[in-house]
Amino acid sequence: DWDFFWSDVSWLHEFFDHIHLADHQRINHFRNYYELTRKDLLIKNLKRMKKTLEKDSRSAEAAKYDFFPPTYALPAEYGLFVEQFKRNAGVWIMKPVGKAQGRGIFLFHKLGQISEWKKDHRWKVDNPQVSALVESYIVQRYINNPYLVGGKKFDLRIYVLVMAYTPLKAYLYRSGFARFTNTRFSMKKEDILNNYVHLTNFAIQKTAPTYDSKNGTKWPLQSLKIHMITKHGEKAVNELFHNIQMIIIRSLIAVQNVIIQDKHCFELYGYDILVDESLKPWLLEVNASPSLAADTPSDYDLKFGMLDDLLSIVDMERRLPAQSSPKRVSFSLVQ
Ligand code: ADP
Repeated sequence: DWDFFWSDVSWLHEFFDHIHLADHQRINHFRNYYELTRKDLLIKNLKRMKKTLEKDSRSAEAAKYDFFPPTYALPAEYGLFVEQFKRNAGVWIMKPVGKAQGRGIFLFHKLGQISEWKKDHRWKVDNPQVSALVESYIVQRYINNPYLVGGKKFDLRIYVLVMAYTPLKAYLYRSGFARFTNTRFSMKKEDILNNYVHLTNFAIQKTAPTYDSKNGTKWPLQSLKIHMITKHGEKAVNELFHNIQMIIIRSLIAVQNVIIQDKHCFELYGYDILVDESLKPWLLEVNASPSLAADTPSDYDLKFGMLDDLLSIVDMERRLPAQSSPKRVSFSLVQ
């Protein structure tokens, strides 16, 4: 008995297929949202899109799907990964596909460093009774030249509201933030297992001994933009933000035919983007349940404002004339 439901994804898995929704009811996830937000499926869909474009002789557009680092799904693509690793070793990052907030992630630069994982994994596969417990990972080339501010690494959290996939209707929230590490960036071998240096997740950084709870580790997107403009000029920075917008559009197009369109559903995604020192943006992942917790007053304002605008667009009370978008919201329609 509800009109508007901000559900968690476990509820969706359990109940969505067994209920009938009335015309006016709205829920905050698409049925198979994970096609975009599970790390391995995101990559699978992006690779598939690139291949389809190549087959259709749209090679210029296919070449634009270059915004994710080389990535392999484990255990299925272990052989392919080893081949690639032997050609071009470097530093790689292992990420469990079903976890968030930096949990279970580690970096390595020698195959021996994942032998523990492999042993454990084989044991599980050989035993069918526990094979359901096998944890899938992706292994991804580590971006070892991130753009730094004050010597520290950050990634960007950008909010995107998708109201429909067919036709695609997505809004980009104007405010977002950069999430910094507390510790200076280093690619030294002895720092490779230090998550405080390499992972920008707030859940990890807030446990760092140097964490400053008054100021937090977040910087508004606008402040970052101004900082970057003073260093690189407006043109370069506008181009960076345009390229980020194109990553968002291309990733949504890649799943447009996969996600089950349903007029009852909308979704607020948290995009994680990393910028490297050449000002190239990379897509790290898309979150289906971006944290709405507020750790500082400005974080509270940002999230409150975003939800307020989101509700204006979802428009439960039907205040908007049909087909129009609300004025005076900080979400802008992505075109
Ligand atoms: P989670 O879902 O656990 O947050 P992410 O894929 O967002 O997983 O990775 C967590 C953090 O690790 C990112 O915020 C980023 O700081 C770092 N990271 C992840 N992948 C890469 C990569 N390929 N290169 C550099 N840093 C990465």
